[in-house]
Amino acid sequence: MTLDDLPPLREVLAEHGLMAKKSFGQHFLLDLNITRKIARLAQVGDGDMVIEVGPGPGGLTRALLETGAAVTVVEKDERFRPLLEDLAAAAPNLTLVMGDALTADEAKLAGGRPAHLVSNLPYNVGTPLLIKWLTGPWTPASLTLMFQKEVADRVAAKPGASAYGRLAVIAQATCDAQVVMDVPARAFTPPPKVDSAIVRLTPRADRPAPERLDVLQKITAAAFGQRRKMLRASLKPLGGEDLIRAAGLDPQARAEVIDVAGFLRLADAWKAGR
Ligand code: SAM
Repeated sequence: MTLDDLPPLREVLAEHGLMAKKSFGQHFLLDLNITRKIARLAQVGDGDMVIEVGPGPGGLTRALLETGAAVTVVEKDERFRPLLEDLAAAAPNLTLVMGDALTADEAKLAGGRPAHLVSNLPYNVGTPLLIKWLTGPWTPASLTLMFQKEVADRVAAKPGASAYGRLAVIAQATCDAQVVMDVPARAFTPPPKVDSAIVRLTPRADRPAPERLDVLQKITAAAFGQRRKMLRASLKPLGGEDLIRAAGLDPQARAEVIDVAGFLRLADAWKAGR
């Protein structure tokens, strides 16, 4: 059996008696035209290393395998093991890991090679996984990730937008981030309550070192924790007006208008004042 001989995804799910489970955030993409489009957006190809979290029935996995990439999947729901073992038998470029992506060691999974993350993320752990990949010790080569539309907008938002906040600052301090595709709820089985979107993130060469990123997280938590307040009030415990002026910013400004460079200057000014 090869990838081309595999039965349609709906048949495979029925054969294994599998239904989506809410507790695992399961909403499946069973249309290979959509999953192939996501694989193209991920810009992966022959010989690339890909890590996919949550393969489920394997629709996105099949599209990634078709590109010739070496794909390692991490799936938490044990019910999917037999189905994914069948897929691995048809595709020598697939490595199956059963476990929790939140505690997975990506550097080990990638075996020291640069690896691209491509995933239709489970909604319940999408944001914690993204934070892990943006701020953790391992840096992916690129990230092509499906989120709820509202989360995707928060990742890629620009200053002044209502979606602009901590997630945008951390994502854009570390990566170039763009929403590259909207996916309506009806494209999933079962359909979720809200629409989704795919964000593509490419790590920046000038991404902050871990210590600078820690300070940035502290500053953005304080600034956006009280986003309606002026910076001089929200940042009072961290240095107030002196800190804000040292960063070349207006103490009367609100967090939502400060760009990523401004937040990095605040982080550096805070560090310099230690
Ligand atoms: N990739 C499949 C698709 O597009 O049809 C399934 C996507 S579904 C939104 C999310 C998948 O992530 C499910 O297979 C679910 O079991 C899995 N999952 C949920 N939490 C997980 C975790 N912490 N670690 C690894 N996989 C997880």
